[in-house]
Amino acid sequence: MMGMEEIAALLPEQMRARLRSARIAGGTATLVFDASGLSGNVREGLEADARAILDGREGIGQVRVAMMADKVKRQIVAIGSGKGGVGKSTLAANLAVALAKAGHKVGLVDADIYGPSQPMLLGTEGQRPQARDKTLIPIVSPTGIPVLSVGNLVEPGRAVAWRGPMTGGALTQMMEADWGDAELLLVDLPPGTGDIQLTMIQRFKPDGAVIVSTPQDLSLIDARRAVSLFEQAGVPIIGMIENMAGYVCPHCGELSDPFGLGGAESAAAAMGAPFLGRIPLTLSIRISSDAGQPLAAGEGPEADAFKAIAAQVAAWLDKEAA
Ligand code: ADP
Repeated sequence: MMGMEEIAALLPEQMRARLRSARIAGGTATLVFDASGLSGNVREGLEADARAILDGREGIGQVRVAMMADKVKRQIVAIGSGKGGVGKSTLAANLAVALAKAGHKVGLVDADIYGPSQPMLLGTEGQRPQARDKTLIPIVSPTGIPVLSVGNLVEPGRAVAWRGPMTGGALTQMMEADWGDAELLLVDLPPGTGDIQLTMIQRFKPDGAVIVSTPQDLSLIDARRAVSLFEQAGVPIIGMIENMAGYVCPHCGELSDPFGLGGAESAAAAMGAPFLGRIPLTLSIRISSDAGQPLAAGEGPEADAFKAIAAQVAAWLDKEAA
């Protein structure tokens, strides 16, 4: 009877590292691998490779492969805003990229079901996610972010005319997709405090929420509502981000504040919520967003600003998980 060591010797080193037990008895080879952190595709590949190596060997009539895996402890961060158009999706995309750049395994769910913009922001327009056994497999963006968006599930430009239960179903399918080894899911919520936010909170209980606002009063009134929705549901507020704060004229260099400055910081202070930082209004953010090339992936002042905010979010999550 062939034992663990003889079988392991037949496998390449990478596969051997994951082999937990192996034996051949009565012509059946049984191998158990540790598949922790592997996505469904990679698991299938591992199984197929093991079979290909062992099938047909002398004394082996049948190969059985089993996978065991530690459940990935995945944290969920909801990114919300009171109003639309404040740059919540832009920040969600750049935050995901900045976190990944800092070494975090992060996925992004675009839960803005009626106005999905992540396919454009992350450059995955026109791609469709595949599915295995009804489980969606996220698309990987050119910047390496696994992402799912209704924008990749329906035809571009087509209005989504879904009622509450359907949007809840779509959200669940995306949240319960094959996120592989992602340890953190960022969820880009629709603006406001509607059905999708409630489903998100009740069904998936985010570990924390980030609220995006512009500095002006009108946006802030709504941002306070968003903060209060999460607080009432017991979801901790990681902090507020002020977007479109200050504009540097690309021609004369003059700094102006079309939406005011510092409003989100003082509103956060008044609510007792942390302030995570501000992102300026710049032409390069708008252009790179439209081109599907998040600035956080490169170098420069904007990338630095996203990096600093990502570091604060990561530190908060580390503390929470400890
Ligand atoms: P929301 O998700 O809040 O509806 P988006 O992220 O879709 O907002 O942003 C709305 C528009 O504003 C987009 O065209 C985006 O490129 C632009 N935008 C967002 N943040 C900035 C910024 N800091 N500077 C310049 N343009 C921005």
